[in-house]
Amino acid sequence: MPTSATLWMRVRSFFELLCGLRKHDFRAAATWINTMYPGVSFVGRCCRFVRWSLWQMWYEIPNALCTVTFAPKVSKTPIWLADGNPLENHPWASHPDAVLPQFAEVVVIGAGFTGGALAYHWSRRAADPNLKMVVLEMGQAASGSSGRNEGLVVMGRYCHMVQKTVSKHLPHVRPDLAESERELLALQFAVAYCQAAYRNGDLIEQTIRSEGFDCDYAREGWVQARDADQQTALAESVRLALDTGLTDWTSITAEEVQRRTGMTVTHNAGFSIAAASFHPAKWVWSLLKSALRSQCVELYSRTRVLKVERVGEEYHVHTQLGVIRTRHVVNATESYTPLLHPQFHDRILPTQTQAASGTGGPTSIRPRVGISGTRGFFGKHGDRVMVGSDSTRVPDREAGRIQPSRFITKFLLGEMQRYFGPSHYHVTHEWSGTVSYTPDEYPIVGVMDGHRQYIIGGMAGSGTGVSFNAGRCVVNRILGLTDEPDDYPPEYFAPSRLLDSQHHNWPALKK
Ligand SMILES: Cc1cc2nc3c(=O)[nH]c(=O)nc-3n(C[C@H](O)[C@H](O)[C@H](O)COP(=O)(O)OP(=O)(O)OC[C@H]3O[C@@H](n4cnc5c(N)ncnc54)[C@H](O)[C@@H]3O)c2cc1C
Repeated sequence: MPTSATLWMRVRSFFELLCGLRKHDFRAAATWINTMYPGVSFVGRCCRFVRWSLWQMWYEIPNALCTVTFAPKVSKTPIWLADGNPLENHPWASHPDAVLPQFAEVVVIGAGFTGGALAYHWSRRAADPNLKMVVLEMGQAASGSSGRNEGLVVMGRYCHMVQKTVSKHLPHVRPDLAESERELLALQFAVAYCQAAYRNGDLIEQTIRSEGFDCDYAREGWVQARDADQQTALAESVRLALDTGLTDWTSITAEEVQRRTGMTVTHNAGFSIAAASFHPAKWVWSLLKSALRSQCVELYSRTRVLKVERVGEEYHVHTQLGVIRTRHVVNATESYTPLLHPQFHDRILPTQTQAASGTGGPTSIRPRVGISGTRGFFGKHGDRVMVGSDSTRVPDREAGRIQPSRFITKFLLGEMQRYFGPSHYHVTHEWSGTVSYTPDEYPIVGVMDGHRQYIIGGMAGSGTGVSFNAGRCVVNRILGLTDEPDDYPPEYFAPSRLLDSQHHNWPALKK
């Protein structure tokens, strides 16, 4: 199979890439410059970026494209949604005359992982069928990021990573603490996050097994490649995992990486032992279908919430189809949140990630295991191979837009070749989604207005690591149930941490 492009192929590919550049490519380039060369001056980073991109455009990408073809019309439908949605247009498809209820005990906004989790737990825990939960979704169930992702059930971010992101942000909100105290506080945050995430991962597995959900679940772990210059940080992160007893995170040798994934690397890689893979949209649909079988959950797709207003002891949820009065609201709107609640502008940052899927691809790639290179992810699901990457902030108004960069897809094809060798691959689908990051990359779970309006969000691209357990805890709080552990203590997770950090009730230091 030809693996080296001719001069003509290089010239053609170079100009195709140049002519195909769109606004998002320039934003992604800025992100790359700002994040990929830590410790280098701005000018130095720009120079390195220009050198890197010319090398990609002239050498790596044209070589990778030797064995790759693109469908004449690459679909922008995420692969998980390509075979249809069993809850398409619910309930209007079967009940065109349905009307929104006038009152509900709880209104959930959004029907992705988080909205689905809330609905499922409500249907299990609300003993009184008169206590209605209404889920409102402006698109279709799982049409947000939950139907557009890589399909990994993560054990959350590992402890060292969470400690670092929190610790980087703490000087802005806790200048009163000494640096050593901030380090300690950041570690406490990381431990609280990981403990909740570990339970979350186990709850997802138990639920899939006990309910018999058909969502292609397999628990084979998640391998994350690391270059030579990242080995010290990897060793440090594994040490912290051992010290804290959060031992899902470990490292494996290059040989073990090859055995588990088919990926060729030269150094140790990080490994999340208990991560799993599944069909993310089928997970959401299974949760919702199970909840809808109860008497106490209703779902309305294509119903956009325009405004939430507090009126006395109630909320009025305004939609284009009418107003619902309710006692509780839960925002499960993730990256779309600032559009509905502008106070979250600059606090919940919509961030674009993209993926592509095609037939063929490396024969060595192992199915069902999470595979990350240093700059992208790869996965094999059935007879299809997926590649993806990017983490670029977009304006609030672009939340949920599907605008993948062809440059990034082609770059990822080069990365796939680097790790797995050349292979024939035919790209048929290419899409993007928006996840959301808070400034400390730590989620928020709890009451956002001091009353009865909740939010679960800011999951930093690891929604499966938070949403199910957080949905359970919020449902229990609304119902006043205390018979189960609550893994999201307000001192760590309450939205006041972002909205009013001065008055946030910070956790005491455990010296
Ligand atoms: C390419 C990609 C790869 C990823 N890979 C992974 C992975 O492997 N593992 C992982 O854990 N996470 C991954 N993520 C992140 C993950 O998909 C998200 O964290 C998760 O889907 C968030 O779930 P959610 O239900 O909170 O939000 P969403 O799925 O975004 O759902 C929010 C819903 O709210 C609806 N909505 C918003 N505003 C309104 C309104 N005003 N009225 C009514 N409805 C509204 C939207 O239409 C949307 O359906 C990835 C994301 C992307 C894009």
